[in-house]
Amino acid sequence: MPEQLNETLHFTKNWQQQLAESFNNIEDLLHYLHLSHHDLPVSVAAAKGFPLRVPLSFATSMQKGDPNDPLLRQVLPVKDELFAYPGYSDDPVGDLPSATQTGVLHKYHGRVLFINTGSCAINCRYCFRRNFPYSDLQLGKQQENAGIHYIQEHPDITEVILSGGDPLLLSDARLAKLFAQLNAIKHLKRIRIHTRLPIVLPARVTDELIKTLAQSAKQIVIVLHCNHANELSRSVIAACQLLKNNGIALFNQSVLLKGVNDNAAALCDLSEQLFSNGIIPYYLHLLDKATGTGHFEVSETEAINLIKQVQATLPGYLVPKLVKELAGALSKQTIQEI
Ligand code: SF4
Repeated sequence: MPEQLNETLHFTKNWQQQLAESFNNIEDLLHYLHLSHHDLPVSVAAAKGFPLRVPLSFATSMQKGDPNDPLLRQVLPVKDELFAYPGYSDDPVGDLPSATQTGVLHKYHGRVLFINTGSCAINCRYCFRRNFPYSDLQLGKQQENAGIHYIQEHPDITEVILSGGDPLLLSDARLAKLFAQLNAIKHLKRIRIHTRLPIVLPARVTDELIKTLAQSAKQIVIVLHCNHANELSRSVIAACQLLKNNGIALFNQSVLLKGVNDNAAALCDLSEQLFSNGIIPYYLHLLDKATGTGHFEVSETEAINLIKQVQATLPGYLVPKLVKELAGALSKQTIQEI
């Protein structure tokens, strides 16, 4: 019997209502934060190509009146996004050539990425998929069945990674159906979910979702995406605890971002807070060089230096692996400390 939602997770509005009421206008978000566009180099032009999208539940964790808030920096469209940085492109990790089947990216041995939706609850300005042609990868029912068929026909696939976009944006009913189909594939061992939703919209962790995950015949792994300890509000922690208490393994991946978490104290704090709440700090990614994200770059040399400082402070199991993605490579590249 899945553990039910606890009191901390009782919301007056359900997650779809909260999502529909997300900030999608720069002025509204700044007004809520007691800031003005004079405080920040905001850019309406940058928001045209990749719109602002921020759920209130994420904005409530921002410090009002602080133009340098590390959560605000992750979501606010700014002028820097319009500069052309050398070495940056629209598909920096080479996903496009791998998209041989609609929705299925068979890039790594034994694992497939199954993209069921291109949408996210939040638009992170540093995202490597910000310029990705999602409209070609949205799965309708027929295409989703074709993806399932592809996995059935490849017995070497032992793990399906639901990614996107954010797979937890699918309705509970659709996820239940998808899980039923995946559960029926004998050679599958695990279903991994890459999601930022429990962090940015904890109301998404509904009883129905918990039921689908807890009753799955496959092992369930959730890889969260949290970049800063301030993202771990009480509601977020309660949502993660609920997942954990229902037998779901929780890991976290972060992106190393200039002006957000590019100092040892912030990285140590994040690892400590994650682990205190049952989440393993797993990966720290170098920025993927997607057009419009150059202002977030932390160099590899600086990154190694930061990880050394984290290693000197924390036990090894709290130090995330520093990794980068190389287009065409068969796995993530671990960056060795010197
Ligand atoms: S949630 Fe993930 S995929 Fe979606 S915009 Fe943010 S970084 Fe990109």
